[in-house]
Amino acid sequence: MASQTKYIFITGGVTSSLGKGIIAASLGKLLQARGFRVTIQKFDPYLNIDPGTLNPYEHGECYVTEDGAETDLDLGHYERFLNVNTSQSNNITTGRIYNNVITKERKGEFLGKTVQVIPHITDEIKSNFYKLGQEGKYDVVITEIGGCVGDIESLPFIEAVRQARWDLGPGNFLVVHLTLIPYLKAAKELKTKPTQHSVKQLLEAGIQPDILVCRTEYPLPNEVKRKLALFCNVQLDSVIEAMDADSIYDVPLLMKKEKLDERVLSKLNLKPKSKLDLKDWKEFLGKLKNPTAEVTIGLIGKYVSLPDAYKSIIESFTHAAAAVECRVKLILLSSEEISSENYQFKLKSLDGILVAPGFGERGFEGKIVTVKYARENKIPFFGICLGMQVAVIEFSRHVLGLKGANSTEMDPTTPHPVIALMEEQKKIDQMGGTMRLGSYACDLKKNSKTALAYGKNKIQERHRHRYEFNNAYLDQIQAMGLEATGKNPETGLVEIVELKNHPWFVGVQFHPEYKSTVLNPQPLFVSFIQAAIDKKNSKLLGN
Ligand code: GLN
Repeated sequence: MASQTKYIFITGGVTSSLGKGIIAASLGKLLQARGFRVTIQKFDPYLNIDPGTLNPYEHGECYVTEDGAETDLDLGHYERFLNVNTSQSNNITTGRIYNNVITKERKGEFLGKTVQVIPHITDEIKSNFYKLGQEGKYDVVITEIGGCVGDIESLPFIEAVRQARWDLGPGNFLVVHLTLIPYLKAAKELKTKPTQHSVKQLLEAGIQPDILVCRTEYPLPNEVKRKLALFCNVQLDSVIEAMDADSIYDVPLLMKKEKLDERVLSKLNLKPKSKLDLKDWKEFLGKLKNPTAEVTIGLIGKYVSLPDAYKSIIESFTHAAAAVECRVKLILLSSEEISSENYQFKLKSLDGILVAPGFGERGFEGKIVTVKYARENKIPFFGICLGMQVAVIEFSRHVLGLKGANSTEMDPTTPHPVIALMEEQKKIDQMGGTMRLGSYACDLKKNSKTALAYGKNKIQERHRHRYEFNNAYLDQIQAMGLEATGKNPETGLVEIVELKNHPWFVGVQFHPEYKSTVLNPQPLFVSFIQAAIDKKNSKLLGN
């Protein structure tokens, strides 16, 4: 298979959590900044068909694409760095591969053959490796292989990478291996042995890495680099140091300094299409690092012990904060620990309050108490998905006086189901992939806070939820001042609520955080931070 598209595979060794996603995104950014069209895909070795059914505690946030795929959170990094949409094809799991193969087997497509890991599973993996490249839209496809080399589960992926070298031909294929060089305090030494072992494991699987990217807390002396080159069969200038960075957004510049992009281009026989252009990126970093204001914002949710569960929200704050040159001190607070007894104490230092998305009853009443506090004390409030639903429920209970008002998710027998399931959701009995997912249109009310923030009246945002605002209560709720300022033009579903007579109180049924990127900060986050700055300033003036 001769290929126009170049393929870069990123594997990981020694430990997990070394940041393969960030390295992939940073390399992608550098290639993009030299004029190449790049996409990044992730292959995950677990058996779930997609991460939609995974507990956020275990796997962090589930990221949602425009086309409604529930994907690994690394796809969020790819979009935030490259500013290019990903899709269902950018995240493939072992579960999906097996599902595809077994479906074909049931249809008789293998013509009586014994269906085996090699070649049938590896062929299915490879056809997914090449799928995006074959669309003709990309010069370079970067593929991140999840997990660590040597894991039983990732063996078929590694075998498929080995075979891909021969499918694609020399000069079209590259393996970058990300590894860790630990520092032993007692010996005062950086140790190369774990890396040697992980490369050995790759070699046993028939793969010679072309480039080593070495995560390290200390600079790698030349003799360490030489040792790595010698024992791992790589050229000395292909041993790349990846020092811990202050911000993930520094990594592209660090990788540029280490010439990762130049090594990749030369090994793939690629000439840069343009001069490296990182002007916007540097401008963003300049603003991020030189704030002129500071606000404290509380993120209230139930998965706060694992911040990765709120990855896109946290990153959206970073992008928006840079846009307004403000430092956002984000405090993650567990809604389970907020009650009507302690809320004053817990929330009083906050200049803005965000109630996070979520599922299920746990911590729900703490969110109600939080929204009531923000509403009554005129603290800027941003409710996302479940956060918007809580705002509607709180308003119904305490302003409309609808006792027991709730979402049927939390209380199926509530007398006032102000948030409820749509008819089509009631029929669904499977969990995976059955929510309202992906991009939907929303019409904004002219001159509403949201319309002013977006600077337009028609938007598209991504969704991931089952329950909806119940329009049977719309008139009553609006009459008392909680206005529906965003609606789906086709279904009339309420997508945004805003409180009148409040400096900034916005609840959105969609997830604005999925579309925030370094170069396109999300307008509602920008406007929310601005409102928090105004609140803080007016507090300082004693208003
Ligand atoms: N649990 C709510 C629903 O399914 C909200 C989901 C969310 O916050 N993503 O509608």
